[in-house]
Amino acid sequence: MPEIVKTAAMIIARDLKTLRSAAKSLGALGLVPTMGALHRGHLALVAAARAAGQPVAASIFVNPLQFGPNEDFLAYPRDEDGDLAALAAAGCDLVWLPDVATMYPPDSASTITVAGPALRWEGEARPGHFAGVATVVAKLFGQVRPAAAYFGEKDWQQIQVISRIVADLLLPVSVVPVPTMREDDGLALSSRNRFLTPTERLTAPKLYAALSGAAAMIRQNGDVEPALARARMAVTAAGMTPDYLALVAASSLEPLAALTGPARLIVAARLGRIRLLDNVPVR
Ligand code: AMP
Repeated sequence: MPEIVKTAAMIIARDLKTLRSAAKSLGALGLVPTMGALHRGHLALVAAARAAGQPVAASIFVNPLQFGPNEDFLAYPRDEDGDLAALAAAGCDLVWLPDVATMYPPDSASTITVAGPALRWEGEARPGHFAGVATVVAKLFGQVRPAAAYFGEKDWQQIQVISRIVADLLLPVSVVPVPTMREDDGLALSSRNRFLTPTERLTAPKLYAALSGAAAMIRQNGDVEPALARARMAVTAAGMTPDYLALVAASSLEPLAALTGPARLIVAARLGRIRLLDNVPVR
């Protein structure tokens, strides 16, 4: 018999049997996939899932497949006790904590690669990253079988990639985007922000300020290139190194030279050892 552990009415599942029996007993679920080290941004996803009136499952899995060989998989922050307490307090009903062997059994031989919205930006900067994301999310959907899944707009390109696989593979799940949760000074919450030095922490909000300024300029006079150039200069002058800062079509992530439809300003910039990501809507 699978052992079902309950803390304050929250079920903690560490094996597939427990997960499936808990998911079945709860009914149509809203799923919040995470890599843990939870902050208010993650909890906003739980709140959005709860607000839809369904039971909520969260998953915590630091997915080795989406980290490159020189990235921070081993150093990625982990805080299982803190995460479980935060999820229980947020009213989560079920937490799925698979280990690597459950997620990737030795005989597994399938990965999902995505073209289209996965090709540029993070796809270029982090080869293999979106294949790792697409594969783990598809597996999570197969394991939890949620009716809806909640993702943060903080990772705009990721949402478009996941929406693409859901559409392409006809997966029976609705993808629900949730707006980015920010600190009072505008910095988008991220599990990696804890690694910013005090000086870097003072610099980091200038990324959002530069994006917001460029978005306002584009909305006002439609001049895309000067707005982007100015924002890149502001980011660089603040001491950050942009990997990219671009206006893109909201779904396809193709670069735009003019505001012709729904668009997003996206940025990735390095600040010391940390890579910051952010984006804002333009229209
Ligand atoms: P992660 O644990 O970084 O993989 O993120 C798990 C989920 O939380 C993803 O859907 C992220 O987009 C989302 N998320 C991360 N940071 C934020 C934030 N500041 N606001 C809203 N959602 C976020």
